[in-house]
Amino acid sequence: MNDCVFCKIIDGDIPSEKLYEDELMIIIKDIAPKAEKHYLAIPKKHYKLFSEMTEQDAADLGKCIRKIGDLADSLGLENGFRFIINQGDDAEQTVFHLHMHLIGGQKLTTRNYLKDH
Ligand code: AMP
Ligand code: ZN
Repeated sequence: MNDCVFCKIIDGDIPSEKLYEDELMIIIKDIAPKAEKHYLAIPKKHYKLFSEMTEQDAADLGKCIRKIGDLADSLGLENGFRFIINQGDDAEQTVFHLHMHLIGGQKLTTRNYLKDH
């Protein structure tokens, strides 16, 4: 059984505030925002790490990133945004389904990184 929270969100089994969806990804609001605007762009395919990606996954992720470029203004990120992908234990990745953090909507400082230390 797949108990991945992001797979459940993609399947509609867990509610989310969804801002965008296409055949490759969804964009939702992060449940614990670290800045005025904090979104998660989540590829629909489940994998955790870059090192697990197939060539097709890499091509699809590239398309998702390019699409984020088109969507940024409509997401309120017209003045820029921070783009973060946590990978593994040292980055304190907590959801093991690769996802891209989009953080902005304000002038960002070191406080708007994801982890507090
Ligand atoms: P990471 O630490 O990079 O794995 O990021 C996981 C992110 O997912 C965190 O910023 C969480 O706040 C966020 N998150 C976890 N569960 C949910 C959920 N059900 N809906 C929206 N965001 C979530
Ligand atoms: Zn998943």
